[in-house]
Amino acid sequence: MRNVPSINVLVFKGFVCKAFLRTMQSIYFSFSGSFSESLLQELAEYIKKSLQSFEFNSFLVGCSFPYSLSEDEKSLLKKEFHFALVKKLESVLEKKPDFSNPHISITIDFNARKINWEIRSVFIEGNYNKFSRKIAQTIFFCPKCKGNGCAYCRQKGKLGLESVEELIGKPAQKLFQASSFLFHGSGREDVDVCMLGNGRGFVLELLGPKKRLADLKKLEIEINKTAKKKISVHSLVFSNKKRVIELKEKRSFKKYHCIIDCSKPILETKLKELVGKEWVVLQQTPLRVIKRRSDLERKRTVKIVSIQKKSKKQFEVTVLAEAGLYIKEFVNGDSNRTKPNFSSLLENDCSCTQLDVIEILDP
Ligand SMILES: [Zn+2]
Repeated sequence: MRNVPSINVLVFKGFVCKAFLRTMQSIYFSFSGSFSESLLQELAEYIKKSLQSFEFNSFLVGCSFPYSLSEDEKSLLKKEFHFALVKKLESVLEKKPDFSNPHISITIDFNARKINWEIRSVFIEGNYNKFSRKIAQTIFFCPKCKGNGCAYCRQKGKLGLESVEELIGKPAQKLFQASSFLFHGSGREDVDVCMLGNGRGFVLELLGPKKRLADLKKLEIEINKTAKKKISVHSLVFSNKKRVIELKEKRSFKKYHCIIDCSKPILETKLKELVGKEWVVLQQTPLRVIKRRSDLERKRTVKIVSIQKKSKKQFEVTVLAEAGLYIKEFVNGDSNRTKPNFSSLLENDCSCTQLDVIEILDP
């Protein structure tokens, strides 16, 4: 859908250096298990030079040996050449090899005559608040060009509103000199819903970063300055890919504040009866999202924390709801697809005119 690689690394393909070719020749022509020290040095230095614009502390190097060699020859090469190369790179790059979680992976492909490398993404975790009812959580990519830019989207690749994703991602992309970014939110709120309280958890993934040790406090200040009055972030820390999954699977109760308008005057006594009440709501997938979601019935608990009449036909309410309950439909009833709902409980036509998430509770 978007204009970034489908895997979480960037692959910079394609250079063939003289040292590499000569090393390869030495493997072919003097295949005796020993390698020219100066060629190995030259190859390591070429790799170092090519990676000089990237900040990294650890590396992994792999080799794909010529298909024409026998298995015995390959295993000898693996033992002799690969081992010597790791040692050489360690001293030339002045970085440690890391076999499980390297910042950079280098592959020497003797068949394609290429040296490829992949830069591991940088992950940043934190919480965001959203104070605007005109900001989406994620970028809405142009459905015609899928983000590449076309006449329909005036070459922007996206449609519509500003997003939390961009307001956080762009300053981070600049600071880390990343090629692109991906935003992973722990759930989402609608465009017209503010995210208040302690905010919502997210992980920002920076792809192909040239810097990986940038100051997160500086980033936080920068985001909060440029996105002032729209969004803010706090508690930024370095994170990892595993946290993206954990965050996505988190099922937290949420506290909402809603302003509800009614078609008929509200009876205060009826309103007060609802305080402290708790229900298991049966909710059929709302009509407004049914095009994008499968039509299921869900059961979610909800509790009325407090309620306050504001005017003849308006009241405000704080509810505590289980993850996955659609609040707007719990208010209006969604043609009775959500049961019970405020409209049925108050025997009135209710609609949610303003909604805020005021707290996401720890599961
Ligand atoms: Zn387009």
